[in-house]
Amino acid sequence: MSQVFYLPTRVFSGAECLRVHAEAFKTLGKRAMIVTGRASARTTGAGPDVEAALKSQGIGFVLYDRVPPNPGFTEVREAATLARAQGVDFIVGIGGGSPLDAAKAIAVLVTNDLGDDALLTPPYPKLPLPIAAVPTTAGTGSEVTPYSILTNDKVQSKSNLSHESLFPKVAFLDARYTASLPRTVTVNTALDCLSHLVEGYLAIRATPLSQALTLQGLAMLGPALKGLASDAGLPNPAIREVLLLASTTAGMVIAHTGTTAVHALGYPLTYFKDIDHGRANALTITAYLAYLRPSHPGAVDRVLAALGISGVAEFRSLVDTLLGPRESLTEAEIAQFSASAAKARNMANTLVTPSEADLARLYRESFPALS
Ligand code: NAP
Ligand code: ZN
Repeated sequence: MSQVFYLPTRVFSGAECLRVHAEAFKTLGKRAMIVTGRASARTTGAGPDVEAALKSQGIGFVLYDRVPPNPGFTEVREAATLARAQGVDFIVGIGGGSPLDAAKAIAVLVTNDLGDDALLTPPYPKLPLPIAAVPTTAGTGSEVTPYSILTNDKVQSKSNLSHESLFPKVAFLDARYTASLPRTVTVNTALDCLSHLVEGYLAIRATPLSQALTLQGLAMLGPALKGLASDAGLPNPAIREVLLLASTTAGMVIAHTGTTAVHALGYPLTYFKDIDHGRANALTITAYLAYLRPSHPGAVDRVLAALGISGVAEFRSLVDTLLGPRESLTEAEIAQFSASAAKARNMANTLVTPSEADLARLYRESFPALS
């Protein structure tokens, strides 16, 4: 079997890894733009730690701290204009998937003058600026993926930039930065990690190497998810560390396999219903597993076994506990979202490509009907 495994991100992990490995910034450039959301980079301590690490290496920086959840073209263009004006030569993203993805698009736009469509269709004329990533959520794995997902009003969904030049050069995993995550974001991001592992294992593009990583990720995540479901409180520092490592492992998986129907079904839920990315995926993941199992029982059962789960029914119960009450969809929404999901690029990466009618059925099975 012909396969490629390429992961050019240097990953440092452990408490204080930013301070211990501050010299890694020197290989990236001389003047950084730090890209963050409104508050969490500062309140988690990750922002001050990055600033201290840059200063310790004599590297100057400028801050862009206006990335919203689910960023779009406007913010990344605003930041890229500032970065150009300030002579920035590398980008440091700090935060959840939103600032990390924004950092990647900004890195492209600083070196390339592109319209929205050209930004979404790499390769680019010039290499993007180098990127460093400091995750403060445990779920997207963006710190080790070549993807940047932007809200795209033109297609009323999310669009994915994907190119190997977008892999961060370096990632710093310090689980202390995830300690302040509220319960809802902790659960939703852990569910995003779950969907990356499940979809990655069951993707057309899965390889033996990606599946080896997936099984390890599922073995880490399964007990942590069960712990989250059985205790309504917040995870302890050891569990936070496991969740972050599982998330980065899952990022390494989807960097190779891509995502599938579950993410495609989730994008309209986020765009039209403002449902968090990880939750949006988890809402349809059980129906998706049940849909795939008749044709691929061995693969689905290997995923469940690696999580430490006996069957689809136990999986459903775990996910339902973590999700709590579900949102509702009207029949009109189901028709609109199925048509949108059917057009997503990742749909073709699903082991059995669902028809638009199958997608409508998956939504119907996942949501209580709205009368
Ligand atoms: P997020 O949108 O980055 O952040 C959600 C919220 O959590 C924000 O309000 C943020 O506040 C807050 N937050 C972040 N870290 C925190 C902390 N440690 N303590 C307290 N609050 C914190 O959420 P996310 O789920 O990590 O990222 C979702 C995005 O990633 C979506 O756009 C999705 O499409 C994308 N994604 C990308 C990939 C990829 O491979 N590139 C994969 C999956 C998903 P602030 O605004 O103040 O920071
Ligand atoms: Zn995701």
